[in-house]
Formats: sequence, structure tokens, C-alpha cells
Amino acid sequence: MLVARKNKEVIKTQSLDAAVRIMHRCDTLAQASLSSEHIERTYLSNAHAQANKIIEGWISEAQMQSWQDAVGNVWGRYASEDVEAPALIIGSHLDSVVNAGRYDGILGVLLGIELGSFLAKHRVKLPFHLDVVGFCDEEGVRFGATLLGSKALAGKWQPAWMDLTDENGVSLSEAMTEFGLDPSKAIDAKRDPETIRGFLEVHIEQGPLLEKRGLPVGVVTDIAGARRFEFIIEGKAGHSGTVPMFLRNDALLGASFCIQAVEEATKRFDVLATVGQISCEPGAVNVIPGNVNFSLDLRSAKDGVRDRALSWLMNKMRFECQRRGLNIDYIEIHSADAVACDSEWQRLLESAMRDSGVEVNSLASGAGHDAMAMSGYTPMGMLFVRCAEGISHHPAESIMVEDVSVALEVITRAICDKAKVEVPR
Ligand SMILES: [Zn+2]
Repeated sequence: MLVARKNKEVIKTQSLDAAVRIMHRCDTLAQASLSSEHIERTYLSNAHAQANKIIEGWISEAQMQSWQDAVGNVWGRYASEDVEAPALIIGSHLDSVVNAGRYDGILGVLLGIELGSFLAKHRVKLPFHLDVVGFCDEEGVRFGATLLGSKALAGKWQPAWMDLTDENGVSLSEAMTEFGLDPSKAIDAKRDPETIRGFLEVHIEQGPLLEKRGLPVGVVTDIAGARRFEFIIEGKAGHSGTVPMFLRNDALLGASFCIQAVEEATKRFDVLATVGQISCEPGAVNVIPGNVNFSLDLRSAKDGVRDRALSWLMNKMRFECQRRGLNIDYIEIHSADAVACDSEWQRLLESAMRDSGVEVNSLASGAGHDAMAMSGYTPMGMLFVRCAEGISHHPAESIMVEDVSVALEVITRAICDKAKVEVPR
């Protein structure tokens, strides 16, 4: 009993020192940016190259081997003595949105490096290589397609992506060459799933649940699927002073009833729905709106529930438009299915939380993550870390060093448990 408690305290002190280092490193990495005013680290940019270099330096400091793959993901390895052993991958992404916070993605990579460093320091013998990855493009800011780094690893790289262009007309293929990579070799970033034991990602929650629960970390059960649409409502423009009310086909009035129906759908079904964009034409103070376009983002951890909500909503919208003499049409612009996290990972993380004295709790992710790309490729698990007010994708993104320490302790225990080795003192 005494030994167990001592072990617990030793780990806690070590993980707190490491957590302090992680917080400093997040500050350092925030400097790898395209702007001196804010954080902006997009795929294949100078800031991406700079971040990879900094990360490779820290990987070497942790006595691990480092390399960059064919699409610009950066890797570190704490090697098993068995060179033929499979690899267990831990990490997240290093790219950012424009005017980003300093922890989204980064935290998961730095925790992986600290874990490797801790295991290396104690010469822990693992039955697998521990590979830490910093994915190159999760956010999709520069070329519009998301999860490029993790999809490349999972063999889901699409050759058509090479022709995507950024806002300056530079193609992905040109940007790759400029970065020093060979576009014809991009598919080489794929690793054979037979050689991979699983993937673990630690990420800030990006929502307020853990803070509401007063807990530092939570096990992720599912990553919600999302479908996105653009709706187009056609009515008839006319003079606001001459067309009587009973003869109007006001597209904006129709849209407003459709948007209220979106809220009603969230109350009837277990979904999250957001209309974040709307435009109206002709858009004059004295003209009846003739055309309205608006977006819809619909999410649920269960695809069936999401799709039932959608079909109810479509019927309701058609009804609202018909009775106002409006046409309604839509284009689906994005669709990703929900992904369940691997049950063994959930069990390992829950047991590690219990051993670390943290109340076991779980939650679904409403946001997409690199772990989604691992679906069908390798068993994937996720751990969320509490962030202040659920704010992310913003400079105000904030986390606590104590929570980082807990996260490190939990993943250390989970990985040791998976490897069936004692947690070193
Ligand atoms: Zn992220």
C-alpha cells in the first residue's frame, strides 16, 4: 500500500514538471506563425516548417528518433528492443486556424513527446514502438480539405487533392515542392495497418462539459458525424410599397420559418444544428427579398438520429416554403459519419483515471479530430482535457498546468497497461 502511494506521488511530481515544460513549449510553438500579431500555422507554410523543426529538436532531446514523412507529418519514436514490433501511435496536429489558440492539437503532440521521454528515461521495455506524431494539416485552412495528415497515414490520401489551390492560386502540389517534398511520393506517407497497434489522441475539449463537471479530463466515447448544407430559397422580389402583403413571395420570411424549424429539430431529436451563414438578395431596405441562401451544420454522435432529424426538418421546411409560394432547394457540401472510439482504449483510459484518483467520466466529441481518420484503419482512443469556458480556435484558449499533469499521468498509466508493464517510479 505504502509502495503504491509512493509510486503515485513520484509519478505526480514527474508529471507536474513535465506539464510545466509542456506549457512553456506551447508558448514557444506559438511563435512559429505566419503572423507576428496572431497564431496562424497552415499546411506547407514557413510556419509549418519552423514548427516541425522545433518539434524534431524536442523529440531528439527526449532521446527519441525523429523524421518527417512524405506529406510533412513529423514523427518521433521511442523504439522497442524488438525491431519487428508493431507501433502504437500517439499524437495530434500541429497546424492551426487563423488567429488560433496555442493548445488545440499541439497539446496532444507535446504530451506524446513527454510520455516518450519519461519511458526512455526509465528504460521501459515496450512490446511496441511508441511513435509520436505531429500531423501537418487537420484544420484544412489553406486548401479547404481537412485531416490531410492523418488521412495520408491511413492510406486515404486522394490524388485529386494535389490540384486544390490556396487563396493565392498556389496548388497543393506546388506548395509541396516548395516545402521540399515530392508530390509524387505523397502516398508513401501511408503505413501498413498490420504494423500499427492503435492510435491515441489527447486534445482540449473545445466545449464546456468538463469545466461544468469540475473534472480535468474525460474519456471520449464517439466523435459526432456532421452534415453540412446550403439551402436556396427562391421567391419574388418586388417593391416594398406597392405589392400587397397577400401577394408576396418573401424568401426571407420563408427562411426565417425554416430556421425556426432548425431549432425545433434540435428539441425533438438529440442533435446539434447551426445556421451560421445567410445572404439575402437584392438586399435593399425597400425591396421584398427575392432570394435567400443559408447554411446548415447538423451533428450527432449517432448517424441514424442525425438523419432522422434531417428528414423531419426537410419536410417541415418544404411545407413552410410551399405555403408561401417559395421554391426551396439544397446542396450537400459535407458529410462525415460519426465514429465510435475503441472500447479497449476507453477501458484503459477509465482504469488509468481511477488509478490516478480522477473521477471516471466520458463525453462525446462534437468537433472533428484526426482520430476520425483512423476509423477502419486502427483502433483509436481519445482523451479530452478541460479548457476554460470551452473556448477554442481563439487566442483566449486556455488550459491549466495541473490538468496537463493529470492527462500525462493518465496516458502514462494507460500505455503501460496496454504494454502490460509496470508504471516506472
Ligand atoms: Zn484540433
